[in-house]
Amino acid sequence: MGPLRRFAQAPERHEPLPGKARLLEPLRVTVVGGGLAGCAAALILAERGAAVTVIEREPVLGGRVGAIPDRLATGQPIAMERGFHAFFRQYYNLRAFMRRFDPDLSSLVPLDDYPLLGPGGRSESFAGLPHATPLNVMALVWRTPSLGLGDLARVDARQALEMLRFSPERTWAAFDDQPASTWLDALRFPARARQMLFDVFAHSFFDAEHEMSAARMIEMFHLYFTGNPEGLVFDVMGSPFSEGLWRPAQALLEGLGVRFVPDTRVEGLDRAGSALRVRTSGSDELADAVVLATDVAGLQTIVAGSPQVAPAALRAQVARLSAARPFCVWRLWLDAPTRPGRSAFAGTAGCGWLDNISLLHLYQDEARAFAEGSGGSVVELHAYALPPGTDEGAVRRDLWRQAVALYPELGAARVIDERLLLRDDCPAFPPGSRAQRPTVATAEPRLVLAGDHVRLPFPAALMEAAVSSGMLAANHLLATAGVRGETLWSVPRRGIFASGGPR
Ligand SMILES: Cc1cc2nc3c(=O)[nH]c(=O)nc-3n(C[C@H](O)[C@H](O)[C@H](O)COP(=O)(O)OP(=O)(O)OC[C@H]3O[C@@H](n4cnc5c(N)ncnc54)[C@H](O)[C@@H]3O)c2cc1C
Repeated sequence: MGPLRRFAQAPERHEPLPGKARLLEPLRVTVVGGGLAGCAAALILAERGAAVTVIEREPVLGGRVGAIPDRLATGQPIAMERGFHAFFRQYYNLRAFMRRFDPDLSSLVPLDDYPLLGPGGRSESFAGLPHATPLNVMALVWRTPSLGLGDLARVDARQALEMLRFSPERTWAAFDDQPASTWLDALRFPARARQMLFDVFAHSFFDAEHEMSAARMIEMFHLYFTGNPEGLVFDVMGSPFSEGLWRPAQALLEGLGVRFVPDTRVEGLDRAGSALRVRTSGSDELADAVVLATDVAGLQTIVAGSPQVAPAALRAQVARLSAARPFCVWRLWLDAPTRPGRSAFAGTAGCGWLDNISLLHLYQDEARAFAEGSGGSVVELHAYALPPGTDEGAVRRDLWRQAVALYPELGAARVIDERLLLRDDCPAFPPGSRAQRPTVATAEPRLVLAGDHVRLPFPAALMEAAVSSGMLAANHLLATAGVRGETLWSVPRRGIFASGGPR
């Protein structure tokens, strides 16, 4: 292998077990949860001939990337989303899911920059970095104003190299028990550079540094930066998620025979002869197999309510899962425009609780129509990893103060309407949690798990973890029936300086 090939990063292919193209015997599968994980599982199963029912607690599909029909004080209909989402280009399995109903991914709009703003006019940009590692790391370090040569000399290069040495075996074994904050302290980055480059990163996964596993953080660096062949910039959806994602996804799935049962909560599973009985708040369902694709709280309730079906070890594993701290999504429809030249999305660091600002009228059709019709703007403020029990009024005051400090024109705007969500339904990845985290397969062959909290065999997170886990869950059930599942992709499983190289 030549020296350049050794550093080449390329997506890695994960083949399913060989088998028949389609099911020959009927297979009834109930998928619990109609978010990305559940719908990805439903797609792969239905494409191969399974009779799939998706039971969803809410009236619409989408879960944390859903959008609920709503109406502004002006009478204008809107779709209120669960908040801004970045569709990264290394989300290979999410994109494969979306290509089934949007072959050119025309619903996605590329953002050409990903700026990071700090107090006092500080800013960083992730645009225009080389894609190849370690050139991207060198370029970022070189152009970071808060990192001088003297600072670099003090950085612990051995610890910093861990970002390029990610290996699924070694990194988890060596770093999972450590909080990310301990590893970041050991890096000895100057405080400002650390704030701009690292603090914001932990929050992007809804965790505070001291409550997140260091191995998880190193894996996230590998996934989003040092092991990512696609670069750090991302795409956003040009219309509300209900239009760009869920209306076409639901039509595709229904065309494949998938049955949706909305507004219905699953309470537990029982044995019913050779089948499983799915107990719900409506009518019960009988299934040959079940995919539990809920969030952590939903999974805990269902598994605790399924003593005949969920093995004791699984019940213990699921009980140990936890949600990350609360987060806030605050969308405001304003009567004044934002200053020309503002970015559609900006991360923030060192700005109180504020973690990012998105200007929806710059990329989303519904918000653009509002801005054009009213002369105003649609602004969304996010805060992650808030202290438990944070008071809504306190979040509002802090986020508004920080937003006006960064974008002073907001101070003169009148709020036409607003929606604020304060939730805590994203999974936590605390130190020491990897070994006990449930996988897609369980000891009960008819029961599989999916969702962004599940432990995966390759690096993935958030939406990509949700879709990948759903596809893997479907593959697992299909393999049991001798049917070939879906080929999955990921960034390389190992960093370029992991012993043995990227492959
Ligand atoms: C504010 C915010 C910003 C985000 N930004 C990004 C981003 O920029 N990029 C990114 O990749 N990811 C982002 N994410 C994360 C992303 O939304 C999630 O990783 C992903 O949507 C999880 O999908 P899921 O299918 O695993 O779970 P969910 O979407 O939570 O789906 C689970 C479903 O199960 C249903 N359910 C629960 N219990 C029951 C029950 N008992 N019976 C029936 N149904 C039940 C729920 O209603 C829900 O619809 C963000 C999340 C939030 C909250």
